[in-house]
Parts: sequence; structure tokens; C-alpha cells
Amino acid sequence: MKAKNKGKISYALQTITILPLLLFGLIILGVGTHLFTKSMNSEVEIELNNVSSNLVTMFDALYPGDYRLESGTAIRLYKGEHDLAADYDLIDCIKEDTGMEITLFYQDTRVLTTITDENGQRIIGSAAPSEVTKEVLENGNPKFYKKTLIHGSNYFSYYIPLRNQDGTVMGMLFVGKPTAEVDAFVRRSLYPLLLVDIVLVILVSLLTFFYTKRFAAVLLQIHGFLKNVSAGNLNAELSPSVLNRRDELGEIGQSALTMQRSLYTLIEQDALTGLCNRRSGDKKLRQVMEASAAAGTPFCVAIGDIDFFKKVNDTYGHDCGDMVLQNIAAILRRHMQSIGTAARWGGEEFLLIFENRKLDAALESLNQLMENIRAAEYCYGGQAVKVTMTFGIAPGDARDAGKNLRIADEKLYEGKTAGRNRIVS
Ligand code: GH3
Ligand code: MG
Ligand code: MG
Repeated sequence: MKAKNKGKISYALQTITILPLLLFGLIILGVGTHLFTKSMNSEVEIELNNVSSNLVTMFDALYPGDYRLESGTAIRLYKGEHDLAADYDLIDCIKEDTGMEITLFYQDTRVLTTITDENGQRIIGSAAPSEVTKEVLENGNPKFYKKTLIHGSNYFSYYIPLRNQDGTVMGMLFVGKPTAEVDAFVRRSLYPLLLVDIVLVILVSLLTFFYTKRFAAVLLQIHGFLKNVSAGNLNAELSPSVLNRRDELGEIGQSALTMQRSLYTLIEQDALTGLCNRRSGDKKLRQVMEASAAAGTPFCVAIGDIDFFKKVNDTYGHDCGDMVLQNIAAILRRHMQSIGTAARWGGEEFLLIFENRKLDAALESLNQLMENIRAAEYCYGGQAVKVTMTFGIAPGDARDAGKNLRIADEKLYEGKTAGRNRIVS
């Protein structure tokens, strides 16, 4: 894999999971903000409605009679016999308690208000917005506005018509809440949602990031293993952390391992006996020679051949010959298991490599093996079949593979000509 391709899958996986997640987070935030703002607006509307209705009811109960204006030195609004201008305490008190601004209009003119200008003067005498005059004063309907500009500031406002006893609309009552105040409250309330949203997105993103990283790391391990195998390393190992996984990646790892074993069987094993074939025997010999050259350890090479094997075939048949070959191979494999390697060198000929052993020790081991071969008896078709073998053995040369095989072969030939069933060293 080229360096620029490293982790491509993990980037792709992260992109397809984290991007929608971020999008989802934004949508949740957007929808949450919209719904919350909407519900806040209707809550403010209800609140303004309640305060304005209560105020009108209170005026009617406290001061029976009609609204009228009396102009003298100053314009004064009366309700019955009561001078409402003397009631600033009441509306100022409500403003203090609720944070709401209150204004009384005679017709469309502010005659009583809690709203002040920058100098602290109440803005009486100014007119209501024309839209309000038309909808509330002329049509006589109460109305809620999300945005009313009054003296440079925006308000959530509720206007309610003020009626005399005969039903004629004499003016309006305004109750309002500064938009900035409500907006600030909405923002403050949304911060926790925003925080939860961000924390959730970060958490899930981190989880996804680490999971996909691990996922891609497993893929890279499998890829590394397959690369090794395709380069001819049939002893390459795959980490147990991949093989022990209980998911599809674990199964892919298992299949890669099975493929490696099948390749090993096909390429390096002899089909009839299961021993190393000539190719892998030769490879093993070179590995032992390399190790010997590097560490100076001794080794020995032997070639063995079954005596009069043609006769076995001729007497009992080819299948019997195969069966004998398999049994001899099993004896050789068992014996050489902890000593070195046994390989089928061809036909009824076998190569033995004695590792880390000088000739004396190798001969001792080979004599033991000879005893096992002589003692073995194979049963075929109810008949007992016995065979012997002849071996040629020589100390190994760490630098000359050809010489190792040639000398062992010469000794074998000597053994054959000297009467077989023996070891020549
Ligand atoms: P020597 O003692 O001189 O080795 O005599 P030999 O009969 O063993 O040697 P020879 O080379 O004359 O014959 C070897 C025989 O081994 C001939 C061949 O048919 C047989 N053989 C080789 N490979 C196989 C095999 O895979 N299966 C069977 N059944 N026979 C095989
Ligand atoms: Mg033979
Ligand atoms: Mg032979």
C-alpha cells in the first residue's frame, strides 16, 4: 500500500459517519432553537395578555365610570372621577414586579406610560404606531405583536382596547416586554442544549474515530499478512488479535490463514506422505546452512533409500508400495520432529537434516531411527510387509549445499553396493 493510501478507509468511514452526525447536531440545534423560541413567544403573549386583562379589570373595579380626558395645565386622563395620572405608583409597581412596560393611550396618544426617554422623562404625548391604531383602536380588537418599535427599542407588545360603558373605544392599554430581554433569556436557556449537543457530537465523533481507526488497523494487518504470503513467505504469522475477532474481519483473517495453509500444502508438502517435498527440503537445508554460517552451529545431512522397493511394488502392488511409503514417512517425521527435518527427496528416497548436531550425535540418532524402521511391520491385504533402508550421512558444510547432498548420496551408494540395510558415514 502506498503511504498516501494509508488510512484511506478510516478517513472514508470517519467522513461518512461524522459528517452526518455534525449535520444531525446542527439540525437538532436549529429545530430546538426554533421550537423553544416559538414556545417562548406564545408564553410571552399569554403573559402580556393576562397582565393587560387584569389591569383593565382592575381599573373597571376600582374606578367605575368612563375614560375621559381633561386638559388644563396638563392633559390628564380620568376614569370616572379618578385621575389615572395620579396612579403612576400602580403601573410603576407592576413594571417593577414583572419587567413589563405599560402605557395608557387616550385615542392613539400616550397619556400615561412607564417608558422613559434617555433623560428619564416619560414619553407621553407621542402617538401609537399607525398599524396598531388601525387594528386595535379602529377595529376594537386586542392584538399581540412580536415586534413593535417604540422610542428606538423593540418590544413584544399586547394592545387591548379601552372601552367606556356604552362600548365605545376610548383608547388602548399597551403591555410590552423588551425583545432584547426575551432574546437574552432564550439564548441563556439554549446554552445547555447547545452544550449537550456539542458534547454529544464530540463524544460520538471520538468513538467513531477510534473505532474506524481500529477497524482500518485490522484491515492493514490482514493486508500486510497477504502481502507477505504473496511474496512467498508461507510461514508469515497473523496476529491473534485479528484471528480472535468474532466479526467478518476475523473471518477474513481466518480465510487468509487457511489460504496460506493450503498454499503451504500445495507448494511445500508431498501429497502422498505429508512430509516436506524436495523443494521445501532444499529450502530448509539452505536455511539451516545460513543459521550454521551465522552461529557456527554444526549440522549433518543424510539421504536414505528404501531397499528393494521395486520388489514391494512388484510383489504386493503399487497401493501397498504407497502404504509403505506413508508408514516410513510417519516414522521419519516422528523421529525427526525435535531433531530437524525429514523430506521426501524423490520416489522412495528421503532427505534428513540433523540440526545443531555433530556427526557422532547425528549417527546415534540415525541408528535409533534405523532400529525403528527395521522393527516396523506393515500389514497389507492380510500379509505382513517389512522393509529396510540404507542411509548415507555426512557432516554439513555451511557454504556448499551441493557438496552436502553429493557426499550423502555417495555414502548411500556405498551402502547399497555393500549390501544395503546399513548406515554409511
Ligand atoms: P534399491 O535397493 O537399489 O534402491 O532398489 P529399489 O528397487 O528400491 O530401487 P529402484 O530404483 O529399482 O526402484 C524404485 C522403485 O520405487 C521404482 C518405483 O516404481 C518405485 N516408486 C517410486 N515412487 C513410488 C511411489 O510413489 N509409489 C510407489 N508405490 N512406488 C514408487
Ligand atoms: Mg530403493
Ligand atoms: Mg531409489
